[in-house]
Amino acid sequence: MTTELTHFIGGKRVAASSDCFGDVFWPMTGEVAARVGFAAPADVRTAVANAKAAQPGWAATNPQRRARVMMKFVDLLNRDMEKLADTLAREHGKVIADAKGDVQRGLEVAEFAIGVPHLMKGEYTEGAGPGIDLYSMRQPLGVVAGITPFNFPAMIPLWKAAPAIACGNAFILKPSERAPSVPLMLAELFIEAGLPPGILNVVNGDKVAVDAILADPDISAVGFVGSSDIAQYVYAQGAAHGKRVQCFGGAKNHMIILPDADMDQAVDALIGAGYGSAGERCMAISVAVPVGEETAGRLMDKLVPRVEALKVGPSTALDADLGPLVTAQHRNKVKDYINLGVKEGAELVVDGRDFRMQGYENGFYLGGSLFDHVTPDMRIYREEIFGPVLSVVRAKTYEDAIRLPSEHEYGNGVAIFTRDGDAARDFAAKVNVGMVGINVPIPVPLAYYTFGGWKRSGFGDLNQHGPDSIRFYTKTKTVTSRWPSGIRTGAEFSIPTMK
Ligand code: NAD
Repeated sequence: MTTELTHFIGGKRVAASSDCFGDVFWPMTGEVAARVGFAAPADVRTAVANAKAAQPGWAATNPQRRARVMMKFVDLLNRDMEKLADTLAREHGKVIADAKGDVQRGLEVAEFAIGVPHLMKGEYTEGAGPGIDLYSMRQPLGVVAGITPFNFPAMIPLWKAAPAIACGNAFILKPSERAPSVPLMLAELFIEAGLPPGILNVVNGDKVAVDAILADPDISAVGFVGSSDIAQYVYAQGAAHGKRVQCFGGAKNHMIILPDADMDQAVDALIGAGYGSAGERCMAISVAVPVGEETAGRLMDKLVPRVEALKVGPSTALDADLGPLVTAQHRNKVKDYINLGVKEGAELVVDGRDFRMQGYENGFYLGGSLFDHVTPDMRIYREEIFGPVLSVVRAKTYEDAIRLPSEHEYGNGVAIFTRDGDAARDFAAKVNVGMVGINVPIPVPLAYYTFGGWKRSGFGDLNQHGPDSIRFYTKTKTVTSRWPSGIRTGAEFSIPTMK
């Protein structure tokens, strides 16, 4: 019998009230492993009502106690790492080692959130005016929500839920309908860690659930991660309903290789960042830009055999470099992009379209593909493919190379490989992209810095995790006080100033 995945409301699993369900696949075998109930607006309402009832008590729990719940939760993540990674790998398709990284990167943000007693501290000025003291405090927003994508089923829900909860909010999580098991497991671990029921609720579903969240008057803020068109839609709808919104979208991340780069290091970086997780990462490198024909020649000599040697395998194979794609539909979309690239005139140097995984013929596999002589007018350059496909765009000069990511509509991550400190410094200062790596291909900042792309990769003005997450999930109140024993100034009819 197929497993039925439910919602998680008020501290327990709750069956879907609608008769709308979605299939959840195991990409490595292609089988339907479960079906997940899709929330109707009434389910979202129930989750919000639970959250609203529980939130004041949680906000009134002192921050050190809230931090202790987060500490215990981190312990439980470590305890259950193997189980979480195994479930995640089976449902998403990424290999186990990478699935552990997914959980670990979420865990690190929960560790950051343990610092909430310090992070939420306000400011104080004694004697700001005659007998006047001035102070500010951070207060939670109330009920907040997060809508997350399929490609990091543990990390991104935790990037949102951990700081939001630590700040004293209640959280409604709407994870991807393609990988719903791990978010439900995380919610159960939070209860085991001592989080009161109702503070973290998971509603599974699709656009119906998202629209119900966006219109709900009791939700104060919404964080979204996913593709850019939907990010823009959520941003506009959330703002129209008076909510605080931050949305993170798609990407086309370039890696610039200057003539003086260590080519072995650059090729190692490209192979891992281009093909790891089958290219289904918002920080994957999808465009390599060698500067000068001689650099391009040396790059291709080393890169082509490495792409040909990539080991594709089932997610549970310990020696696989990458696993299958998330669904057959997405695999076919990536394949269509490869066909398009050939039609557009790019040179398909390594062709992964016909890869078959012996013994797993129904799985959603693709081999690694590599295009050379891609040009900026091609759709395979302009659009996000989100698969194991790397495009090489040859630049004549450094100025041409820096212009490519700077003028691209996406601006998530970018990397430069060089031994020249001056060039690297100039690049980091000038490139029009949110996150920069210098000889680092996937510059995802650590939990105590913030993560966020520019242009169509990010909508809103605060980033994820780090100090921005505390700003996003709290509102600042400023208090100006004077006591009767202070200086009497009599009635004042002008605006008070410090003149
Ligand atoms: P997606 O946009 O299809 O889905 C994201 C979320 O939106 C899911 O919860 C989904 O249920 C919901 N959704 C889907 N269609 C909707 C609609 N029409 N209206 C309202 N909600 C809808 O994204 P995905 O395929 O799950 O994830 C891959 C995308 O996410 C890629 O574009 C990737 O670059 C991006 N991503 C970005 C970041 C980042 O931080 N910038 C991180 C990870 C992934």
